[in-house]
Amino acid sequence: MDEKKTVKTEPPLLKVRDLVVEYYTRAGVVRAVDGVSFDIHRGEVIGLVGESGCGKSTLGMALLRLVRTPGQISSGQIIFDGEDLIQLSEKEMRARRGARISMIFQDPMTSLDPLQRIDDHFVESIHAHDKSISRQEAIEKAGELFDLLGIARDRLHDFPHQLSGGMRQRVMIGLALALDADLIIADEPTTSLDVLVEAQFLDLLKDLRRRYNMTLILITHNIGIVSELADRVAVMYAGEIVEMADIEPLFAEPVHPYTQALLRSVPNIRLDEELKIMQGQPPDLLDPPSGCRFHPRCPYAIKLCRTEAPPWTEVKPNHWASCWLHVEENENQGGASYG
Ligand code: SF4
Repeated sequence: MDEKKTVKTEPPLLKVRDLVVEYYTRAGVVRAVDGVSFDIHRGEVIGLVGESGCGKSTLGMALLRLVRTPGQISSGQIIFDGEDLIQLSEKEMRARRGARISMIFQDPMTSLDPLQRIDDHFVESIHAHDKSISRQEAIEKAGELFDLLGIARDRLHDFPHQLSGGMRQRVMIGLALALDADLIIADEPTTSLDVLVEAQFLDLLKDLRRRYNMTLILITHNIGIVSELADRVAVMYAGEIVEMADIEPLFAEPVHPYTQALLRSVPNIRLDEELKIMQGQPPDLLDPPSGCRFHPRCPYAIKLCRTEAPPWTEVKPNHWASCWLHVEENENQGGASYG
C-alpha cells in the first residue's frame, strides 16, 4: 500500500452525482445505472466490481459520454476537474476524450484502426490534441513509451493484428500516457489475456501507477485484480453502488450481503470462508425487484427489504453501504460522502 499515493486534501478530480443511464428498448426502459454517486481523487485507483450486467461498463461509457442509442444519460452530474461533462457540447467533449480522460477496452482492436500502423496511431492521437509536435517528435515519444512498456521499438511499425493481445493492451496504455490523460478508465482490461500475460500487465500497471501517479477506474469482474491495484472498491449490483470502502476493510469485513456473497464466490481472496457459488440470478432491470434489489437472493432479507430501498449509510468510518441490516447501527445516512 505504501506506493499508493492519493491526494485527498484537494477537491476530487471526478465527482459523479446521482447518475442515471437508461436504455429505451421495445420491451420497456432499462435503468442500467441508477442514481450512482462517487468521487475519485488524483492518484487514486478505484475498482468497480460486480457481476456481468450490473451496469459497471455502462457507467464507464457514461463517464466519457459514449453511451449510444437506445441508451442515454437521463440525469445526474459528471463533474470532471470542476466542469460538468454532461453540459458540454459534443465538440468540447471530443477534446476531453483521450487527452483528459482515456478509456481502455477489453478488446483493444475495437479502438485501434486495423489499417493503421501503431506509430501512426500515436502520431494521430498526439496531433489531435497538440499540432505543434512534429511527426518525428511524436514517434520519438512513442518509442520512449514502448521502452517503458517493454515493447521493442521496431514493433511501432506493425499493424495492430501483428501484435499479441498483451502488446495491444500495452499500446492502449501507451496512447493514454502519450496524451498525459488525467483519468484512465480501464474496462475489463485483462479479460482477453492469458494468466501469465495478465500478471505481467498487472505488474506494468503497478509500475506505471507509481511513476505517473495515475488516476484509474478499474472496471472488472475479477476481484483478484482489484485486490492487487485498487485503493478503494465500489461494488455494483443491479445498476446501483451497494457498498464502497477502502480495499482492506472492504475485503476483510464486507458489510453488504451481496459483497459477502461475491467475495465468497472468488478463490484466493482474503475471506476465511469456503468457496461458495452465489445463489440466484441478477434481476431483470426491465422490472427490478421492489425495495432492496438484492432481496430475492439475500439470506438475511426481512419484510422491510421487500418494500423499501435501504438508504446509503456510513456503517463504519468511510465504509458505506445500503442495507437495512446496518441502518440502525449508525445514523449517518443519505450519501453525505462519496470519496
Ligand atoms: Fe439483504 Fe435486506 Fe440488506 Fe438488501 S437490505 S442486502 S435484502 S438484508
